[in-house]
Amino acid sequence: MLNEKGDISINTENILPIIKKWLYSDKDIFIRELISNAADAINKHKKLVDMGEVPQIDGKYEVHVGVDKKKKTLSFSDNGIGMTGEEVKKYINQIAFSGAQDFLEKYKDKVDGKDDIIGHFGLGFYSAFMVADRVEVDTLSFESGAEAVVWESDGNSEYSMQSSERKLRGTTITLHIAKEEKEFLDFGKVKEVTEKYCGFMGYDIYVEDVNKKPDENEEIKPINDVEPLWLKKPSDCTDEEYEEFYKKAFNDYQKPLFWIHLNMEYPFRLKGILYFPKLKHELESAEGRIKLYYNRVFVADNVKEVIPEFLMLLKGVLDCPDLPLNVSRSFLQNDGYVKKISKHITKKVADKLKKLYKKQRDDYNKYWDDINPFLKYGCMRDEKFYDRVKDVLIYTTIEDEHKTIEEFLGHSIGSETGAESSDNKDKSKTEKIYYVSDTVKQAQYVEMFKEHGLDAVILDTVLDSSFISFIESKLTGLKFEGIDSNIAEALKGEGDTDGFDELKSYFKSQIGKESLNIEVSHLKTGDMPAVIMGNEEAKRMQDMSRMFGGMNMGGAFPGNDTLVLNTGNSVIAKMAKSADNDSKAAAVRHIYELALLAAGKLDAKSLGEFLKRSGSLLERIVDDGSPDETPGDTETE
Ligand code: ADP
Repeated sequence: MLNEKGDISINTENILPIIKKWLYSDKDIFIRELISNAADAINKHKKLVDMGEVPQIDGKYEVHVGVDKKKKTLSFSDNGIGMTGEEVKKYINQIAFSGAQDFLEKYKDKVDGKDDIIGHFGLGFYSAFMVADRVEVDTLSFESGAEAVVWESDGNSEYSMQSSERKLRGTTITLHIAKEEKEFLDFGKVKEVTEKYCGFMGYDIYVEDVNKKPDENEEIKPINDVEPLWLKKPSDCTDEEYEEFYKKAFNDYQKPLFWIHLNMEYPFRLKGILYFPKLKHELESAEGRIKLYYNRVFVADNVKEVIPEFLMLLKGVLDCPDLPLNVSRSFLQNDGYVKKISKHITKKVADKLKKLYKKQRDDYNKYWDDINPFLKYGCMRDEKFYDRVKDVLIYTTIEDEHKTIEEFLGHSIGSETGAESSDNKDKSKTEKIYYVSDTVKQAQYVEMFKEHGLDAVILDTVLDSSFISFIESKLTGLKFEGIDSNIAEALKGEGDTDGFDELKSYFKSQIGKESLNIEVSHLKTGDMPAVIMGNEEAKRMQDMSRMFGGMNMGGAFPGNDTLVLNTGNSVIAKMAKSADNDSKAAAVRHIYELALLAAGKLDAKSLGEFLKRSGSLLERIVDDGSPDETPGDTETE
């Protein structure tokens, strides 16, 4: 009968409290570590079977996680290779404990957690002590004639080991959960953590509530999917499978738009599936999730050291078995290998977009609303990505078409910055593209554009103000002009503008706003007496300050609004000739406010006055036309 007590040969006195404190926020990982060990033990046994050293097993390889709230224990059982007493002393007393010590030695300086280690790989068995006062290892080796043993320790320097009654090959690790960690006695919590980390591991994993009598009708199912889709050959996967996997992995009931299956063996191993979700315009809420796996074992979400930041808008799984994950994040950031992975992914994403554009242009146009924030953000974050996708950047027009800049202009544009243009035709000429930044406020302007057969693009997302400047910096010879900044120029017709100087000053004095510029122009449309023109520079600065959150630049914006009087409008023409009086003064205000209204710039106070004046104007119209007052008016004249 084996019954021994002993000191664990290494000095462990100090590591436990430090490890506990350090991993405080990430305690869940002990579940992953213990299940990984169980899967390793099964792997080892399976290898022996494959080599013909031991006979096939009856039944299946399985891992069982048992939650026992009454006994306050959590257990992990496997039918893997097991350990002999000698092996327990060697592997648990020495390797596991010294492993934990080595691990701590290496990362001691980073205990403040700022530079944490990706997924804390390398802690292994010892991590059980993060949540347990006492841990038992009950194990029987596969070797014939081996004696079962049960080892026990509180994680400090002492252990005990005795003979065990165990008859089944394999190992059961039982954690006596510490008082303050009782959340790990909650079945739901344990199941959730197990699913998160081990949802795609290669052997069936069951999570069981030991105190609950199994329901006869209830089918007991493993919590994991032992054949994750990303490990299959892309040619063997159907669209339904991709969509099903997406739903399950991301709890998203909306279908993804499309996806990319990464399947690389050389020069590094990288498998995974990246999905383009429906983003809609809201970039802030469009945070995706890229789950990183290491040989099917979940490591972390959104590991920005491995995945280019802009790809975080996607959803997906990446399995990188070659990644050195037991290193600190800052190391990964500077690792050449990681950079290669990241580059490869970026290239694959760009290739997919180009392929869609070329082969399924209609679909691509349809996806644009959802994918444009991603592309735009990517272009601005990563030059190389821009170079790859610049030919597939499209713009939605006010006619609801989707066009590249070339398609929009009907010809190619100048030259790329830095590149020598081969033909020297009119380098100084800038092409203008009008854009709508607010489809509601600028609806009137859009109507005017459409009426006159003019086209404009819609660039109205949070990102667009920076994207516009970005594209202008890339394509010299192209300038975006707000539809409301330069409406007058776009709508300029042929016609006289002489003889309006007095009217201009009259408007100026009546409106009484120093900062407002007044101009005259003969517009194509006679309908509007005047239009408001914003200042493009000022608008861009405003957009920028809005983007960077509440930065108040107050009156520091250069440039002001301009009121353009339309000499082609009959009211303006008449006013230029009529004498100044109260009615004319009221007309000035009304024209000004009408223009503001059309530009979506009329404030609440002015709107009240505007409505009042409109009321009295209506009265006058009705009075003028009233048959009581001027009977037979039309006949007599
Ligand atoms: P690692 O798994 O990184 O080697 P651990 O500290 O997790 O380090 O475990 C130490 C050793 O204990 C393992 O290498 C393995 O030999 C042994 N071991 C741990 N858990 C089991 C298990 N469930 N079955 C068999 N051996 C195990």
